[in-house]
Amino acid sequence: MITDVSQYAGQTAVVTGGAGFVASHLIDRLLADGLKVVALDNFVTGTRKNLEHLEGNADFRFIEHDVSEPFDVEGDVALVFHMASPASPIDYVEIPVETLKAGSYASHNSLDLALRKGATYLVASTSEVYGDPEVHPQREEYWGNVNSIGVRSCYDEAKRYAEAAAMAYHRAHGLETRIVRIFNTYGPRMRLDDGRVVPAFIGQALRGEPMTIFGGGAQTRSFCYVSDLVDGIWRLMRSDFHEPVNCGNPHEMSIREFAEEIAKIFEIELKVDDRPMPPDDPKVRKPDISRAKDVLGWEPEVPFDQGIRETIDYFRGVV
Ligand code: NAD
Ligand code: UDP
Repeated sequence: MITDVSQYAGQTAVVTGGAGFVASHLIDRLLADGLKVVALDNFVTGTRKNLEHLEGNADFRFIEHDVSEPFDVEGDVALVFHMASPASPIDYVEIPVETLKAGSYASHNSLDLALRKGATYLVASTSEVYGDPEVHPQREEYWGNVNSIGVRSCYDEAKRYAEAAAMAYHRAHGLETRIVRIFNTYGPRMRLDDGRVVPAFIGQALRGEPMTIFGGGAQTRSFCYVSDLVDGIWRLMRSDFHEPVNCGNPHEMSIREFAEEIAKIFEIELKVDDRPMPPDDPKVRKPDISRAKDVLGWEPEVPFDQGIRETIDYFRGVV
């Protein structure tokens, strides 16, 4: 069962990592649905610009803080969304210790806040908990194939810990917890230079540069538009389901095909700058979203062609 949004009108949601790509869209949605929002961020990978349009909004408050350090929020809190974490491979490989803390210390700080306030807690987990998957597409029952000491482990293991922490608070304290496993998501407000493939190829196309395809480009990803993801996250928070739920778009393509799509939209000939495959890069990734359909009545609605054009329009204004 999904609680109607009207039940939350006037209540407060705390969003960690609020200046980031996904969380800033989530905040817009919560405010549009009549909630008050307190966002925390230390700008390690996010930017003040993503929240600029909310200046002067009486329902919105921002606290600059590293949530891996303890924190409190004044007043009643109904919902805690723990979204803070570096999310791009080039970000988390550069700051592995901060990334581990965002999944561990910051999870505890956010869980403890939810416990003190009697709030419902949701953590942004990731398809990376499946590692380089041996099961395809990935269902929530699959335990994953993660290299615990590889360069991506600071992120993958932090998120696996974050899931374990949510389950432990649920079991030990009866805390209402939600776990969303987010698959590759794209849209406006991504950082053009964050190294993820969507801003990378669009930026290269806009600058007339060849596209940096890693490892030949046969590896696959499935890209979800951000408004669809936010809808899934918001539904999950309003459900009563405490086990993990995949949120992503099952529309799978190879990285080479993705580059070709971008070249087609820009009406340019695809030029490739072949680069080596980064270590432990998953070879395939596609969500099985049967659980999200059953439990949340959710599936993505924005077709790739529409979402990618909206994203390109945004990046045209940034370059
Ligand atoms: P992002 O880098 O744009 O946003 C993360 C935000 O968290 C940034 O604003 C950053 O400054 C903030 N942050 C990080 N550590 C912090 C700390 N210790 N204290 C305070 N703020 C901190 O990334 P995103 O793509 O918007 O990702 C948001 C969440 O969703 C992350 O938890 C990420 O792991 C998860 N996720 C995203 C995707 C995706 O495709 N976008 C996929 C899987 C999971
Ligand atoms: N990728 C690429 N060129 C780039 C950036 C990424 O070929 O400039 C590849 C990367 O190796 C991976 C896929 O695109 O196989 C998606 O990478 P991204 O960093 O966007 O997300 P993740 O690896 O976390 O799914």
